[in-house]
Amino acid sequence: MSEKSIKKVCVIGAGTMGAGIAAQIANAGVPVLLLDILPKEGDNRNAVAEGAVAKMLKTQPAPFMGKRAAKLVETGNIEDDLGKVAECDWVVEAIIERLDIKQDLYAKLEEVRTPGTAVSSNTSTIPLAQLTDGRSDQFKQDFLITHFFNPPRYMRLIEIVAGPQSNADTVDMVSDFVDRKLGKTVVDAEDSPGFIANRVGTFWIQQAVNSAFDLGITVEEADEIGGRPMGVPKTGLFGLIDLIGIDLMPHLMKSLTSTLPADDWYQKIARSEPLIEAMIKDGYTGRKGLGGFYRINRDGGGKVKEAKDLKSGEYRAAARPGLVRGPAAKGDLKALISAKGKVGDYAWAVLGPTLSYAASIVPEATATIVGVDDAMKLGYNWKRGPFEMIDAIGAAHLVERLKESDYPVPAILEQIGDRTFYRVQDGKRQYFGTDGEYHDVVRPEGVLLLEDIKLTGEPLIKNGSAALWDLGDGVVALEFTGKMNALDEQVMRLIQKAIPLVKKDYKALVVYNEGSNFSAGANLGLALFALNIAAWGEVEKSVKGGQAAYKALKYAPFPVVSAPFGLALGGGCEVCLNSDAIQAHAETYIGLVETGVGIIPGWGGCGEMISRWEENPRHPNGPMPAVSKSFELISTATVAKSAAEAKDHGFLRRDDGITMNRDRLLYDAKQRALAMVDGYEAPEKPEYRLPGPTGAAALKLAVDSFRKQGLATEHDETVAHELAYVLTGGDTDMIDVVTEDQMLKFEAEAFMRLVRNPKSQARVEHMLETGKPLRN
Ligand code: NAD
Repeated sequence: MSEKSIKKVCVIGAGTMGAGIAAQIANAGVPVLLLDILPKEGDNRNAVAEGAVAKMLKTQPAPFMGKRAAKLVETGNIEDDLGKVAECDWVVEAIIERLDIKQDLYAKLEEVRTPGTAVSSNTSTIPLAQLTDGRSDQFKQDFLITHFFNPPRYMRLIEIVAGPQSNADTVDMVSDFVDRKLGKTVVDAEDSPGFIANRVGTFWIQQAVNSAFDLGITVEEADEIGGRPMGVPKTGLFGLIDLIGIDLMPHLMKSLTSTLPADDWYQKIARSEPLIEAMIKDGYTGRKGLGGFYRINRDGGGKVKEAKDLKSGEYRAAARPGLVRGPAAKGDLKALISAKGKVGDYAWAVLGPTLSYAASIVPEATATIVGVDDAMKLGYNWKRGPFEMIDAIGAAHLVERLKESDYPVPAILEQIGDRTFYRVQDGKRQYFGTDGEYHDVVRPEGVLLLEDIKLTGEPLIKNGSAALWDLGDGVVALEFTGKMNALDEQVMRLIQKAIPLVKKDYKALVVYNEGSNFSAGANLGLALFALNIAAWGEVEKSVKGGQAAYKALKYAPFPVVSAPFGLALGGGCEVCLNSDAIQAHAETYIGLVETGVGIIPGWGGCGEMISRWEENPRHPNGPMPAVSKSFELISTATVAKSAAEAKDHGFLRRDDGITMNRDRLLYDAKQRALAMVDGYEAPEKPEYRLPGPTGAAALKLAVDSFRKQGLATEHDETVAHELAYVLTGGDTDMIDVVTEDQMLKFEAEAFMRLVRNPKSQARVEHMLETGKPLRN
């Protein structure tokens, strides 16, 4: 690893990418100087960069993880402030994609920067050699390409291209920074046109569009066949083009056709459709324009989803073709490309060439097949990379079909024969190299994945909803494994079994998994079933069972660290609140959302929230402030939009950790747990001093006022009253101490009263059916 480190960054160009990159640097807690050109009019010379920051504060999904981050961005302009780059350790150029303008800027930069300062370009298409043409050797040594994806906060891929003269330490320093601090997965790319993801992605988009026109497939059919079953985002292809902007297509095409060699396959498929040209000309550029391949027609006060007819060019009501069935619908690619009729014809027309093309760019665009797979998964949100898809189809079968269709068969596909591109050998995942040998997939230092642990053996214990894994060094991981990581009695049972096991043979426990989300909470489907048959005894048992399991975790004689990421809602939040510490991924969306389904947190969340606000040093003393704050957060079902925001809301404590890179989360959580082992003592049981009925009356008054303003419904009020009862300590007098057990009892009682209420049951049912809360 490099000796130098990055303490301040300058981003030049405050457009879509530059502003987003600056925000992500600020999200990492690193100061950043954001420069752009002088405005065309007005006296404020920093107006362009300032405007970009102001716009980001209103953008959704938000580029900033919290308000504090925005304060780390200093704005300026290149006429007055370019000299300030001398204070920076890395300069990111993200200005307009024009070689002459970029070269001009580098010439100016050369005058003012400190030699040794890293300089990188975010260019999508311009070769590195052209960018640095005419610059000094020192500049060339300090220069590299850092190709972020849009939006920079949320897209995990970064392609890094080093030139022949780039200094290895400088490249390492920048790579390490974007990995650890900005949370990106670095894929090393060669200096070849479009690098990796856009090269394959543009080919795929072009081929999918061409094939729809050629085979007479509608946009809905194309998206149904080429979307979910292929494991690409559910928008499908045309939906994706609408999202990124139809007007971007000719630009992508032009940049690739002008830089790729004449015999590249892409040159043969690149073509524009008169219909698409007309759409762009008339402003039908997708979601940002008047409409795209899809649009929502609101004429006559309605809301009708329409699709463009590729033959007539007219909009018509969008259809749901329902063509893909059976294994093909579930992601069996071989079944998909072998299906009879339209489905198989279109799937093959898209996948055959795309997979062949993807296989042909190794090692020209990147050294290994892993680079291609990572680039497509992280840059285009594909579920599987092209080589993983080839393995799923069977390389030999694919080659046979490619030959039948007269498509090119790249060397690596001939070479692999009937083997697979990935295999597991001695508990290690290996990939097929261009040398014809298998090599271990090596994770960077500080990356630990459950996915890899699973290759080495079986879980210590497991049931239908959870499993316990040995992570080595005396630490075990508790994994939720149910559908969508929902929490149920089986999870609670496994927790109770895990505790004596960890106590006997291990040192610490980490709650972690690698699903799409940490956990969206209790299994509502099961809950609704119990409610429908009025199995109150069962419901109460599951409330009390959950409380007991979570408290057993809290008071276990070893450290427990929760490592949430993505959604951590309801019971998923409560398991974190009952842990000794939290190590959260920066993109954690945590909250107690039970009121949305007409109930209140039932697994200890109420008391834990109060404890956290009582401990909060920034918070005024006395029983009421912590209660009011908890009431506000729970009654409004507040969900933090980042781990940083979760600290502001008290779901995370000040000293809980945040990991920027998702792949580093388990390692960091494990280290945190290990650091707590020596001298570990379980926490003391809290004793609450709560305001009692007078406090509840004050909270109810506030709800009443919301109700009168039309901001709360009648049932919101009922739920809020129960919540107020619990949080203020029920009927206890202000001078009495409320124990944790009493709090849990209040919680369970209020919970049971609410689940018996038909309006709460209607909320649960509605949530299950629509995924949205019912405001009854
Ligand atoms: P953009 O048009 O949104 O922003 C470009 C910004 O550069 C504008 O604010 C402009 O005022 C500023 N600018 C122009 N000349 C300048 C100069 N001499 N000095 C300082 N600022 C100057 O463009 P963008 O989409 O953010 O793209 C920026 C770069 O990132 C391009 O190289 C592009 O190829 C690349 N890129 C874009 C995307 C994407 O999805 N938009 C993705 C990856 C890479």
